[in-house]
Amino acid sequence: MRYHLVPLGCQMNQSDAERIMTVLEEAGYSRCDREEDADLLGVISCSVRQRAIDKVYSKIHLWNTWKAKRPLLTFVSGCILPEDREKLLKRFDLLFSINELPQVPEMIRQYGVVTPPPAAPPTPPPLGDTPDIREGFWQVTPSYTSTIEAYVPIQNGCDKFCTFCAVPYTRGREVSRPSGEIIAEVRRLVESGYRTITLLGQNVNSYGLDQRSEEVRFSELLRRIGEETRGADVWIYFTSPHPRDMGDDVLEVIARYPTLANQIHLPIQSGDDKVLIRMNRNYRLSGYRRVVESVRRILPEATLFTDIIVGFTGETEEQFQHTREAMEEFRYNMAYIAQYSPRPGAASARWADDVPQEEKRRRLHVLTEVLERTALDHNSRLAGTEVTVLLDGYDRKPGFFSGKTEGRTPVRLPVADGYHPGMFVRAAVTDVRPLSIAATIRSAL
Ligand code: SF4
Repeated sequence: MRYHLVPLGCQMNQSDAERIMTVLEEAGYSRCDREEDADLLGVISCSVRQRAIDKVYSKIHLWNTWKAKRPLLTFVSGCILPEDREKLLKRFDLLFSINELPQVPEMIRQYGVVTPPPAAPPTPPPLGDTPDIREGFWQVTPSYTSTIEAYVPIQNGCDKFCTFCAVPYTRGREVSRPSGEIIAEVRRLVESGYRTITLLGQNVNSYGLDQRSEEVRFSELLRRIGEETRGADVWIYFTSPHPRDMGDDVLEVIARYPTLANQIHLPIQSGDDKVLIRMNRNYRLSGYRRVVESVRRILPEATLFTDIIVGFTGETEEQFQHTREAMEEFRYNMAYIAQYSPRPGAASARWADDVPQEEKRRRLHVLTEVLERTALDHNSRLAGTEVTVLLDGYDRKPGFFSGKTEGRTPVRLPVADGYHPGMFVRAAVTDVRPLSIAATIRSAL
């Protein structure tokens, strides 16, 4: 019996897929690359973009046409809005939340016996309404899809309720994974030779603050991971933090432990206070600025990444200009800039999407130009220096490795004898571009 999985969306869904794979393999299924060859077909759904939702429906439409010709079992899991569950259950054979993963082999055996669809409008699920993710899901050993880079979930769900986001409705309220399990997983990965580990959560730095948690704070979790990985050849990252919960304690721990990487992802979303209020981000530009100042003071070598939405409902030209000015001020190394589109189930989907598409494109273009300028300025300082690079694969251009610096700047390096992906190397920077650099390997580390 063979299975094929289609994970959509973010790193969290990719990480969830690695645990789903383990459970399916323990249930006797083996992975196949082509969906045409599979007996069990599953999609890990993402509710963030309409495009992803459309893909879920197009997949199941195709798979259901195959059902007429051969036995086939289909399932859907991942981020699913409560009001979509019933619609999806009519099309898929099984629907389960990741919390229910340990019960999936039994569901497959009793094909058709699935959890009842909650017919609730998009309100946050009350505590205790769904199986506890801490009892089963996180104990599954993932089938890691890389031998170099691994993701370790430390938390699930979100309590922040940004108006443009549906995560609190699809994944529920925040739950922190027990720190002992996280550290044990990190230890296993380091012993197996993994070179980067990314701690994952919708809101990683509110780790330990959720109502049901008896866990330590995020800075203490990082400190324990720093101790555990002391002297190891690994870079530890985390994503995504929320600016409101980013205290100096977190940054000071990163400064103390060399394995905690010098890279901070700090989503700003908008540089205008009125827009931030309508986004329900719970910080103002002045508060965000204080966090950036702390990053620059405590971690002067760190690269700074962000997320930005342009054309949020009602965003005026003046408000957009505040975002542009914030980008100029904070001088990011990388920014993931998205044109606003209403996300089904999110509060802002009820408001008019009133910034014309053409205008959103223009605003994105303006910010991209700022990003390229500031990122090039950062990278120019690396020209002629030596940097440490993790070789993480082969470049699309034949004869070149791909790699990343500790700050996650992409690097292209000519292949050299005796070197292979998974190695840390010292490399001389030979060329710089806005979002990447070129370098030549000097020695192994
Ligand atoms: S912090 Fe906001 S954007 Fe991030 S997952 Fe929570 S609600 Fe969504």
